[in-house]
Amino acid sequence: MPTTAPKGPGYGLQAFSRPVDAPPLPRIARGEGIWLIDTEGNRYLDASSGPVASNLGHGHPRIIAAIEAQARQAVFAYPSQFESAANIEFAERLARLAGPGLDRAFVVSGGSEAVESAIKFVRQHAVVTGQASRWKVIGRQPGYHGNTLGALGVSGDAHAHEIFGPMMRTVPRVPAPLTYRLPPNHTVESHARNCAAALDEAIRSEGPETVLAFIMEPVGGLATGALVAPDIYHALVREICTRHGVKLIFDEVMSGAGRTGRFLAADHWPGARPDIAVLAKGLSAGYAPLGAALVSAEMVQAVNAAGGFMHGFTYNAHVMNCAVGAAVLREVEEADLVGNAARMGSLLRDRLEDLASRSALIGDVRGKGLLLAVELVADKETKAMIPLERVAPERVKALGMRHGLALYCRRTSRGAYGDWLMITPPLTITAEEVELLVGRLAAVLDDYASELRAEGIL
Ligand code: PMP
Repeated sequence: MPTTAPKGPGYGLQAFSRPVDAPPLPRIARGEGIWLIDTEGNRYLDASSGPVASNLGHGHPRIIAAIEAQARQAVFAYPSQFESAANIEFAERLARLAGPGLDRAFVVSGGSEAVESAIKFVRQHAVVTGQASRWKVIGRQPGYHGNTLGALGVSGDAHAHEIFGPMMRTVPRVPAPLTYRLPPNHTVESHARNCAAALDEAIRSEGPETVLAFIMEPVGGLATGALVAPDIYHALVREICTRHGVKLIFDEVMSGAGRTGRFLAADHWPGARPDIAVLAKGLSAGYAPLGAALVSAEMVQAVNAAGGFMHGFTYNAHVMNCAVGAAVLREVEEADLVGNAARMGSLLRDRLEDLASRSALIGDVRGKGLLLAVELVADKETKAMIPLERVAPERVKALGMRHGLALYCRRTSRGAYGDWLMITPPLTITAEEVELLVGRLAAVLDDYASELRAEGIL
């Protein structure tokens, strides 16, 4: 159990990007499986895989060995001058795991780049196939697709739009089918049907011939706290996109690479395959900056026949990063981590539901596989949110560190939709570690509940 939070001089990125009153951070020394260990020797159970990235846990010997081996050969060679075995193996494995229609990978350094690449690729595809009038990308509110201006432009985060809105091409956004707080007289399903109908209406009112794509997270991430829409929503969205000739982009940056108990979250809805899938995070399990936009061979052929994709980055198909990605995918398959995510996900969910029945603070448990979240409320009956000034996520995160539990939570959209903790440990987690995680979480929430009671909030 950590006793002290060592103070750093604060010259690094952490100091650059944090509020002035944020508590000091412990300094990382090393990682070991599900544990992160600071320079004082304090151990933190990684309840979130960082920002849902460290799918293989920390210090994984096979990935470290792959990094060492690749470093002795080639680390970087520019992909317009050389191809690499690492890139070929990574792309082939990824295509096989992603399945039909998602068989070509444009390999980049992270999620935002992958989203930008997907959008630009779809646009160029429309231009070369005689549909140059299509350029609008519809997104969801709330929703998150990255922090570069293009990816942020298709994200539904009201706060970010207040600041950066004038600089972005703002696109129509339709409501995400949230499942916890429903409009009056609605069920989860009737609300989801309305949200799908809103997409249809948005496409019609924009003019279908101008709409290029619809982007959504098939299982939500931080913006919605692991939202899982009912099956009918996925079927309707697919049908609407097909009917209007609009490409369906699944942002699987968080949900992909096995996290939800299938390789892609899309695999839970085989009747609603996306045209494009975007992955990052778990793809390299945090061992290298890596992302990919997956599209069909036919689409690539059409763009290449017209001269090739007019887009690229210095670190496209980076040799070392691809070697890491290939090693991660090898491990995901050989250690059956997708199966483990499904098994441990259902155990963890049961335990979180037990905890919710005992805790005055947990209003909802949701998600799929090991992409789970618990929503914190001030009143379970009324679903009242914790008052904004209590900065619930930041406080719970600080209490977590005190209890040796690294938590991922951040208020998105100024807390307009509620507060939640992502419960997304590495896919390598064992049943014993699940019990330990939930035990520590219970202690954190007990402390937080005592604080709220002392203030008369709970
Ligand atoms: N899409 C989703 C769903 C994400 O969760 C994230 C990262 N949190 C991104 C895109 C952006 O990825 P990156 O931070 O690697 O640019």
